[in-house]
Amino acid sequence: MTVRNGREFLALPGPTTVPDEVLQAMHRPAIDIYAGDAIALTASLQDDLRRIFNTRGRTYIYAANGHGAWEAAATNTLSAGDKVLALESGRFAVNWAEMARMRGAKTEILVGDLRRAVDPAAVEARLKADAGGEIKAVMVVQVDTATGVVNDIPAIRAAMDAAGHDALLMVDAIASLGTMPFDMDDWRVDVAVCGSQKGLMTPPGLSFVAAGPRAIEAHQTADLRSQYWDWTFREGDLHYEKYCGTPPEHLLFGLRRALDMIFEEGLDGVFKRHHILARAVRAAVDQWSKGQVLSYNIVEAAERADSVTTVRIDSGHSPTPLVDWCREHCGVVLGIGIGALDGKAFRIAHMGHVNAPMILGTLGVVEAGLQALDIPHGSGGVQAATQVIAGAADA
Ligand SMILES: *Cc1c(COP(=O)(O)O)cnc(C)c1O
Repeated sequence: MTVRNGREFLALPGPTTVPDEVLQAMHRPAIDIYAGDAIALTASLQDDLRRIFNTRGRTYIYAANGHGAWEAAATNTLSAGDKVLALESGRFAVNWAEMARMRGAKTEILVGDLRRAVDPAAVEARLKADAGGEIKAVMVVQVDTATGVVNDIPAIRAAMDAAGHDALLMVDAIASLGTMPFDMDDWRVDVAVCGSQKGLMTPPGLSFVAAGPRAIEAHQTADLRSQYWDWTFREGDLHYEKYCGTPPEHLLFGLRRALDMIFEEGLDGVFKRHHILARAVRAAVDQWSKGQVLSYNIVEAAERADSVTTVRIDSGHSPTPLVDWCREHCGVVLGIGIGALDGKAFRIAHMGHVNAPMILGTLGVVEAGLQALDIPHGSGGVQAATQVIAGAADA
C-alpha cells in the first residue's frame, strides 16, 4: 500500500518543478528561425536575462546545460596557461576549474571547509601573495548545491579589491539566480553563469552567460576560444549565429513564459517567497536535529542557502532508506548527498516553482519517513514550519 499516486513532487535541486504555464507555452509548432517572431523572442530573452543578472553587460544563451555555460565562460576569457583560482565551498567551483584545466588553463584550488562558506580573508591573503599577477580568474559559486552553502559574493569582491588584484571574478549563479538577489554590476562580477532548470523553472537544456566589460576585453585576446561557445561569433547579424546553429525554440518559448511569471510576481516577491519557505525548512530541521542524528551540513546559520538545505545523517544511519521511503510511499523525490556527502546526507530543494503546500507537504513526508523508519529525531518539525508560514502571512 502506498500513498504516492497523484502528482510526484520533485524536491531535487534541479531539475525543479516546471510550472504548467511553462509546459503549455512549449506545446506549439516550431516557427521559422530566420524571421520575425524568433528574432524578437531572442532579443526579449537577452534583455530580460540582463534584468535577472542585474547587468548592462551582454548575455548569451546556449543550447547546453550548466556545464556548457562553464565551458563558455572559461574559453571566452582565458588563454592557455592562465591560472584560475577556484574557491572551494563544495563541489561546483572545483568542477568548473577542472573544466578550464582540460581546455588548457592551470588551476589552483583554495581549499575550503565543506561545512562553511568561502572565507574572504583567505581569498585576500592568497591574492596578496600573487604579486606577479599569475592568477587571471577567480571562480566561485553563489550557492553550492552539494553543501547547501551561500557564499557572500560582495565580500569576496571586496577581498579581491583589498588585495589590489585584477583577476576576473567569475560567479556560478546556477542554483541561486531567481531565488535570491544577484547584482552583477554593483558587485562588479565580470562573468556570471546560470542554467534554465533551477530557480528559472524551465526544463534543462538552456544555459546563460552574462559578460561585463572586463570579460569582453579579456575575450579579445583569449586563445581558448572555440566556435560553438564563441561570443564574437554569436554577436553576428544572423539570428542563426546567436545559437551557433538552430535555436532551441521550444525551450526558448518555455523560458519566455517562466521569466514573465517571475516578473509578474516581482523579483522582490520571488526572493521573499524563497526566504520564507527556506526558513520553514530550517525550522523543521532545527527540531529534527534535536534527536542527535540529523544535522545541518552548514554549521553557521547565516551561511545556509535559501534555495537548498543539505541535511546530514550520522550515528550509523544512512540517508538511502529515508530517500527511498519518501519516493516510494509518498511520491516525494529528495536529493541525495553528492560528492563528499555521498551516503551521508540528503537534500531538500526549495527553489523555483515552490509554494507553502509543496514545502509543508515535503516536510510532512520527511517527518513521516523519520517516524516510519525509527530514525531518532526531535518532534514538531512540521509544526515549527507551519509557525513560520503563519508568522509570515501578514508580514
Ligand atoms: C546544477 C548545478 C551545476 C551544473 O548544472 P548542469 O546543468 O547539471 O550542468 C553547476 N553549478 C551549480 C551551483 C549547480 O547547482
